Amino acid sequence: MKTLIIENIDPKKIGELMTVSRLFCDIPDIIALGEGQIPGLFGKAWQTDKTVAANLVSSVTAIIKQENYDVILMSVSTLGTGLAGPLSVALSAPVVTEVTFVHPDMVIERPVYGGKAIIKQKLESTPAILTIRRKYFETAKLEGTTESVLLDSIEQKVKLVAEKHEQTEGIPLEDADVIVSGGRGIGVSDNFTMLQHMADQFNGAVGASRGAVDEGWASPTKQIGQTGKIVAPSVYFAVGISGASQHLAGIANSKCVVAINKDEDANIFNRARFGIVCDYKKIVPVLTQAIMEDR
Ligand SMILES: Cc1cc2nc3c(=O)[nH]c(=O)nc-3n(C[C@H](O)[C@H](O)[C@H](O)COP(=O)(O)OP(=O)(O)OC[C@H]3O[C@@H](n4cnc5c(N)ncnc54)[C@H](O)[C@@H]3O)c2cc1C
Repeated sequence: MKTLIIENIDPKKIGELMTVSRLFCDIPDIIALGEGQIPGLFGKAWQTDKTVAANLVSSVTAIIKQENYDVILMSVSTLGTGLAGPLSVALSAPVVTEVTFVHPDMVIERPVYGGKAIIKQKLESTPAILTIRRKYFETAKLEGTTESVLLDSIEQKVKLVAEKHEQTEGIPLEDADVIVSGGRGIGVSDNFTMLQHMADQFNGAVGASRGAVDEGWASPTKQIGQTGKIVAPSVYFAVGISGASQHLAGIANSKCVVAINKDEDANIFNRARFGIVCDYKKIVPVLTQAIMEDR
């Protein structure tokens, strides 16, 4: 099936979409946004440094019609979310958002109800537009680079007035292999440094539940869950977090969840592979020390 990737120049995002594209074709084409070389080997490639989705709709639509693509792939991101709807209307094409799995014959899985259920949909017409959740597919190793032509005829419907970049110290949550997250059970803002110390031993990152963010102990940029970040680390430590469904929606693809909670009936234990029923203040320093000694 003829497949087009639309993505910012980011090797991780492009690598994940490349993996998905291989379920449909040998070599996809790409529309790459941003400056620099396009990583990976593609058939045809177009590029622009313009990144506002609303301004790209007509030029991207023209290319999809001209090249007759069957599948259009984008990440779940500001760009993907901004383009999927307008492209669907312009092309009269079905769109499936937040895709987490692709079966043969265009049967697509996506979570619904905040991750409590998975829906399977079979796409019966093309072109079909899919936005892919980050970290659910392997990042393909991208060999070489691809020469591109300029994506032209871009409209100016929306003017980008300013961009404010999130200030992140250390590893971004989305890329962290180990996350230590704190909830309302942490009790005081200062004790987040205890979690940071533990995360540092793993070269990991600190996250937070909305409970902790609402208390003002953690920045909203650290919130994990339905209205926060979707993460998929190898190990997720949930410390003083009750395990509300909205929080679990953000950690569904974590490989191993370790819960530390003093309430043995806390819902987080239903999601955890390992559970420690204890006051976190007793166990976190002990765990941190043990990890330090083990290195
Ligand atoms: C539309 C909507 C969207 C939402 N989006 C999100 C979201 O994106 N992310 C999110 O996290 N939530 C979200 N929520 C909020 C969610 O429903 C919960 O209210 C929130 O996750 C609770 O945070 P918490 O687990 O930290 O706090 P609590 O539910 O108050 O739990 C605190 C836990 O800490 C434990 N504890 C207390 N003291 C200790 C101690 N000393 N040692 C160990 N354990 C201790 C307690 O036993 C308890 O289980 C959303 C809610 C709505 C309605």
